[in-house]
Amino acid sequence: LIIASNFKTNHNRKSTKEFIDFINSKNYFSEVRIYPPFTALNHFELTSNIRVGAQNFYPTQKGSFTGEIGFEQLEEFEVDTVLIGHSERRHILGEAQESICKKYDFAKAKECEIVYCVGEPKEVREQGIEAVMSYIWEQFNGIDIDYEKLVVAYEPVWAIGTGLSASLGDIEEVLERLRAKIKAPLLYGGSVKVETTKDILSIKNCGGILVGTASWNVENFSKMIEISDNI
Ligand code: PEP
Repeated sequence: LIIASNFKTNHNRKSTKEFIDFINSKNYFSEVRIYPPFTALNHFELTSNIRVGAQNFYPTQKGSFTGEIGFEQLEEFEVDTVLIGHSERRHILGEAQESICKKYDFAKAKECEIVYCVGEPKEVREQGIEAVMSYIWEQFNGIDIDYEKLVVAYEPVWAIGTGLSASLGDIEEVLERLRAKIKAPLLYGGSVKVETTKDILSIKNCGGILVGTASWNVENFSKMIEISDNI
């Protein structure tokens, strides 16, 4: 199972190092992914199943893109896993499918693991599962779903950072429909908490969780990994 923490715009260099050193010291079996802010990337001494990645990047090796981070800067820290398509980038930062595809193709050419995030807004969820799936399939336009280092994260927009998680039945239904076409591991994300981790990880076709808010506390994140280790 994959247990991933998206720090978003939280933690600094020092607290990230403390967080990662703590997780590293535990020798967990689960596949752990941690996505800190760019400024906290570092040469971490990681055990083999822990990987530190990037929440974003500009699809270039290097160049003149003021304020952006390219792959040369990520490679300095051996980053080999990235988030693409997160709802905050789609909806708050205005990232369109076209630029998401450019990032996807670039990371794929770099043979980097891609955690590709998809999920519907509230008004689409209210229209039922068919509307949800057609919205989600559009988010796969231009995306190579057969890429061998793809991980898909189903994250309903209305559940991210809101404290409202999708129901177990709703998650199961979406994962089952994704599984019909996609062989990559399927994660769920959206207000996962320590208390809900076990039930979510037990859903059929669920290959792990992508967690924001509840993961920023290292004890909570550790508890989630322990739950996963025991499943
Ligand atoms: C996320 O950012 O991917 C996420 C799921 O956030 P939260 O756990 O806070 O809903």
